[in-house]
Amino acid sequence: MSTQLFRPRFHVDECLEEIRECLEKGWTGLGFKTVEFEEAWKAYTGLPNAHYLNSATAGLHLALNIYRLENGWDDGDEVITTPITFVSTNHAIMYENLTPVFADVDQYLCLDPDDVARKITPRTRAVIFVGIGGNTGQLERVAEICREHDLILILDAAHLSGSKLKGKDPGLLADVAVYSFQAVKNMPTGDSGMICFKAPELDAFARRQSWLGISKDTYQRSNKGGYSWMYDVDTVGFKYHGNSIMAAIALVQLKYLDDDNGHRRQVAAWYDDAFSASNAVRPVPVAEGCVSSRHFYQIAVNNRDAVMAALADIGISTGVHYRDNTLYPMYAYAHGTCPNAHKISEQVVSLPMHLDLGKEDIDTIADTIASVST
Ligand SMILES: *Cc1c(COP(=O)(O)O)cnc(C)c1O
Repeated sequence: MSTQLFRPRFHVDECLEEIRECLEKGWTGLGFKTVEFEEAWKAYTGLPNAHYLNSATAGLHLALNIYRLENGWDDGDEVITTPITFVSTNHAIMYENLTPVFADVDQYLCLDPDDVARKITPRTRAVIFVGIGGNTGQLERVAEICREHDLILILDAAHLSGSKLKGKDPGLLADVAVYSFQAVKNMPTGDSGMICFKAPELDAFARRQSWLGISKDTYQRSNKGGYSWMYDVDTVGFKYHGNSIMAAIALVQLKYLDDDNGHRRQVAAWYDDAFSASNAVRPVPVAEGCVSSRHFYQIAVNNRDAVMAALADIGISTGVHYRDNTLYPMYAYAHGTCPNAHKISEQVVSLPMHLDLGKEDIDTIADTIASVST
């Protein structure tokens, strides 16, 4: 067999039909399908606000930018974050001249609440929690710590589309949640994301700030009489909003999200079964109360390079999510502050996870791993 690590699936005819509507209407930008998708996302997640963006990286930056402006945070104020994440999470902190302070991870590869508490200082303003691979880890405890210490909780929900914690969208626990619909995420479009603020006034701010600080979007203006050309600009905003072509794809993908995640959980269950008798292979557990989107299926092994090489030999792609970010020169100042993260990042492997995998594929992968396990 041969397989990619991730392989997005699109319902091509339905996507094309939605896109055709944009093209025929002559409306491919902000408004129209982006509004339709925001409404659909709110209905699906139960979140009170949602603003569609061109990426989750943009969304994470926007979240920090808006809280900094709203609360008057100073340069060098601290944001507690994780070394086990895609660099977007931590770069977003740097974009606003804030300082990433790294806390260690737990067995779920998510932030360890005890270490978060230890890393709070008088300059701490926020915590960014990343739901790795769809896992909610100990998000509830981290939310509790944020409440006690009056810190903003930002949820990097790039992997959490469709994940549930005690039956609800985990975004409901955060002050702001940012989802990704990037090309190989579990709810793929081409590139796009969603920012969901709890506070309605911050949602309104995000709408201005994601369109260069302009205070009314084109769609609203074109539907009003009078001074339709008139707008104000109060802040230096960004070009971060999403467009109707991506939203057209997202509307279709959302319809299939629960089914697709269900298939992913089936694949994960096959892996769990296949590894249940092995001492050498330690699957990363899903936290209690979490129904994971299963964006990833991750195992820890002591011979990671041999496992990856053996799978590569038969055409099976694997990945590492993630390399300890404090190994990057950018974040090397924090090297040594998160020993668990450092250790696990040398052992962890992501195995193929997508909708074209069947039980035989999983058995082949497990047999290959067993053949190099000692
Ligand atoms: C993919 C990813 C992002 C960034 O998402 P984009 O939509 O590609 O900008 C942020 N955080 C994590 C954990 C991710 O995996």
